[in-house]
Amino acid sequence: MTNVARVIPRQLPALVVVAMLAACGGGGDEPMAVAASATADGTSTVLQARLTALATEPLSAAEAASLAFMREEEQLAHDVYMYSAQLWTLLPIFSQIADSEASHVAAVQSLLDRYGLPDPLAGLPSGSFSTAEFQALYEELVAASSLGLVDALKVGLQIEELDIRDIEAQKAVVDNADILRVYDQLLRGSRNHLRAYWQALLQQGGSYVPQYISQEEFDAILASPRETGR
Ligand code: ZN
Ligand code: ZN
Repeated sequence: MTNVARVIPRQLPALVVVAMLAACGGGGDEPMAVAASATADGTSTVLQARLTALATEPLSAAEAASLAFMREEEQLAHDVYMYSAQLWTLLPIFSQIADSEASHVAAVQSLLDRYGLPDPLAGLPSGSFSTAEFQALYEELVAASSLGLVDALKVGLQIEELDIRDIEAQKAVVDNADILRVYDQLLRGSRNHLRAYWQALLQQGGSYVPQYISQEEFDAILASPRETGR
C-alpha cells in the first residue's frame, strides 16, 4: 500500500462537495444545477458561494469532534476495501465501493478544511489511524477479510452497518446545514453499499446477521430500492 490512497481524495474535495450539494437538492438561493455543471475554472467560485450561503452557523465542539471521527471512519472503510480489492480480484465490488469511500473521505475533509480544523490523519499512510480504536478495528477487519471472499464481503456489510449506525448517531449532535447535508449523503451511500455487498454475498452463497443495527433496520434497507448518491 502506498500514500496514493490518501492523495486521491485530497485532489477532489471542492468538486465532491459541489456534487453532493447538487445531489442533495433543496435550500439556498442559486439553482443546484449551476453548481453541478460548473467548469473547473468556475467551480471554486461557485462552491464558495454555495458554502458561504450555508455556513452561517458556528461550529460546536461536538460538531468538530464529529467531523474528526467521521474522517477516520470513512478512511477506515476506504482502506479496508482497498485491501480486499487487492486480495479478491474476482469481484470489482471492493474497488468500486472504495472509490465511493474516497469521495466520502473527500467530503468530510472539505468540511474540516472549511472550518479550519486539522486533518486527524495528516501524514499517515494508508491503514494507519490516529485513534487507537480505529487502528485496532482496522487490524481486526483486514485479518477477517483475508480469510476468504465471503468473509471479505461480510466485513463490507459490517463496515456499512457500522457507518449507518454511527452517522445516524452523529446527526444527533450536528445542526449545521452543510454538515447535515454531507452526512445524509454519506448515509445514502452507505445504504447503497450495504445493498451491493448483500447481493454479492447472496451470489456467493453466504449469510449474515447484523451486528450494529437492528435486524428490522437491516431488512428494511435491503427491501428498499437503491437511492441517489453513492
Ligand atoms: Zn462511506
Ligand atoms: Zn460505504
